[in-house]
Amino acid sequence: MDLLLSSNYNDVQVLHWILDLKCNFSQKQLSGTALLFCQSSCFPPDSDVTPESKACIGSSSLSKSPHIDQGGSDTPAYGKNAIPFILDCDTLDIEACFFHSLPKKSFELDSQCYENLTTDSESMNECRKGNQSRSYQVHEDTINKYFNIFQNLKKGTFKRPVDFVVEKSCLRISIPHTYLQSNQKRELFAVEINYQTCREGPSLTWTQDQNMQPCVYTSGHLLNNRSLMPCQDMPEAMSTWHCYITVCADKAADVQLDKVTVLMAGETEPSVVVDQDGNYTFGYHSSYPMPASTFALAIGTWSEFCSTQTKRDNSVESFKPRVRLFAPSSLDKNPLRSLTDYLPACFSALHSVLGLYPLQRLDILIVPANFDSLGMMGPHLLFLSQSTVMCGGTEAEGSMFYRVAHELCHTWLGVLTGPRDWTEEWLTEGLCCYLEDVVHARALMWSATEARERLELRCLLKYRVLKAEISATSEDLQMLRPNGDTTATDSTDTHDPCIVKNGLNPHNTLLQVHYLKGFFLLRYLEQMSGKEEFLEVLKTFIENKMGKLFSSTDLLEFCFEQLPKLRQSELTLSRICQEWLDSPGMPQTLSEFLVDDENSLFKEVQNELSSLKAGASRKRRKQPGDVMGAASDASSCSSPKVLLPEQRVLLLDLLVEEDARLTRPQMQCLRERLRVQDAAAEVQHSWCELVISRKALAWLGDVERFLTQHQAMGVYLYGELMISENGRFQALAHKVFQRLRPCMAENQRLAVEEMLFPT
Ligand SMILES: [Zn+2]
Repeated sequence: MDLLLSSNYNDVQVLHWILDLKCNFSQKQLSGTALLFCQSSCFPPDSDVTPESKACIGSSSLSKSPHIDQGGSDTPAYGKNAIPFILDCDTLDIEACFFHSLPKKSFELDSQCYENLTTDSESMNECRKGNQSRSYQVHEDTINKYFNIFQNLKKGTFKRPVDFVVEKSCLRISIPHTYLQSNQKRELFAVEINYQTCREGPSLTWTQDQNMQPCVYTSGHLLNNRSLMPCQDMPEAMSTWHCYITVCADKAADVQLDKVTVLMAGETEPSVVVDQDGNYTFGYHSSYPMPASTFALAIGTWSEFCSTQTKRDNSVESFKPRVRLFAPSSLDKNPLRSLTDYLPACFSALHSVLGLYPLQRLDILIVPANFDSLGMMGPHLLFLSQSTVMCGGTEAEGSMFYRVAHELCHTWLGVLTGPRDWTEEWLTEGLCCYLEDVVHARALMWSATEARERLELRCLLKYRVLKAEISATSEDLQMLRPNGDTTATDSTDTHDPCIVKNGLNPHNTLLQVHYLKGFFLLRYLEQMSGKEEFLEVLKTFIENKMGKLFSSTDLLEFCFEQLPKLRQSELTLSRICQEWLDSPGMPQTLSEFLVDDENSLFKEVQNELSSLKAGASRKRRKQPGDVMGAASDASSCSSPKVLLPEQRVLLLDLLVEEDARLTRPQMQCLRERLRVQDAAAEVQHSWCELVISRKALAWLGDVERFLTQHQAMGVYLYGELMISENGRFQALAHKVFQRLRPCMAENQRLAVEEMLFPT
């Protein structure tokens, strides 16, 4: 269940990579080459070093990994004659690997340029360790130089094949020492890998969009991009890149070439070249060194709904990136319009909370219905689930746009900074969960009272989810820092973990424990230190960490240093770590959640709840034989006040929890009053839970529609349908699953299978 980090990054660093791939929709395959510009840290054989470091075996990155030597018997013996170059990969068809030496002269690499290419990475390493501050973007000239070399290598025929072995989770290439020049300590060379992806590789989802057109996108799988490309898949291995995707005429797949769009996590809009056969090649690049896991790609026939033309200058508007919004043409335009109205307000709010938006452009794609989460932020590219944007009807409600705020916060947290140990996912998720509320409230310009009351309700909802998840999951999934404090070593060298604990556990992706426990820790720190002070300190911390990695300890130490009220409290760093990060279960501080007595929104929900319960019991006493046919209770149906989405979710959840009896007319009335049909996906979800818990067969159709339209949110409803012990509900679960199964995301399919076919 753990994710292995196999690459020997300490020996060889990939500075830049270039993918040049053809997309074949009917084969569901990408094929072509990956060219990796590398720098070796291994010492050449004749230099004055010890035998251990010479052979590169037993170097820190390898020795930390206990499982890595379980490969086949044909594992190359690197011995003294070759340098190992190990890349993480999964389900890739590797055809050949070649070595290109990059002598200074032949590629117009004057000494200065050569120095720039290589030393760049040294200072990058220092910077990652947090020792040095530098710009987190590589100079344009260097990026162009890589591209020129790539063009030259494509023309040239001189390349030397190298031995390689494909193992279950990695590709081992051995580079003979004789290929390297012996007088270079940090030598630049390139490795070319010819390969193709396999249709069952989990990094790419080949599917149909909402218009039934073929498309493919990187699904943010637990294996990251390992079945898209061989890569050094670990947080500190950051590279710049170019990527070229050629889409060819493909009659079998019914792809209209001139309608195809390729979206990528690149920093400028694509270069598009049409060759004489009518094939389209889309090219993107990134001069921001980033982990391979952040790369994102989508190929399909989406239409550009709109774009904002904001110029980046010194005006007030300068903090807003240029945005293009892509969606299937059949999608309802009203919610998309609400989204484009929301974005400028959201960027202003982000500016006030986190500072200048650090990237210059952003593409947003409304992904196919089988996308397995609500949103996924890559550099310059945001995948949004239709559940975040669309409502049941045409009413453009936008109440789930806080999720857009959440994803945009990831630009700072997860894209341009990130946890040093991927197991400490709470750092980015908890922070984004915390900041989404602050940003969303500012974007919608809620008054102080409105913000306080609405956010308190949202907090209560989060608390209820956290409590439910903690009672239903195994303890090892509830720890925010299962590897302990990875920075606490006596040596100056930072310990890099070689596995991501539970990194391949499919249950982990369906859980929100890390998000929510992290959220409540940050909220607690905010309460102890004062909201404005806390936000200011967070902003400074994030600014300091741009382009770097950080740990839980880094963040908490900084808070204690900068926040006097926190220091003066009885809290200590070790107590916080012990209670919140290193223990399973609910932290002591969170043993209960009390809503402020003055919260008028909460009172309204309570009143609704009691009148519904009173109405139901009144009817049962009067007409015990005719409950289902009773006239609807006028008081609950005609009440003029429309509840807010948070209130509606809470009311429905409380009705489920209190097992309140509701008559059929009452249910009907409630459904109308809460505008379930047109409501945001979250309200519909709670409604479905009520329908199932009340065995209200009349609204079976609502559940079926929800499971189809909001696949990422519906997984646990299958379980509820099954334990309802009602034949028709169970049949519905099986029917919908059979229909969606072929296109379902893998982790969801596995989870639903477990519920439908328990062993
Ligand atoms: Zn997130």
